[in-house]
Amino acid sequence: MPEAIKKTSKAKCPQCSKPTVQDYRPFCSKRCADLDLGKWLNEQYVLPGDSEIPDDIGES
Ligand SMILES: [Zn+2]
Repeated sequence: MPEAIKKTSKAKCPQCSKPTVQDYRPFCSKRCADLDLGKWLNEQYVLPGDSEIPDDIGES
């Protein structure tokens, strides 16, 4: 039952559903990668004034 095996065979760009290009995985182009990055940045900027900074930087 080779149903779940071919899951990693062909990825699609989450932006435009074109086939992924290896250089820009998981996207199809730099443009789509930039779009997604911009989306993430926007969402971060939109976050309500809670400045939750992960402070596990120098704690040992
Ligand atoms: Zn794309």
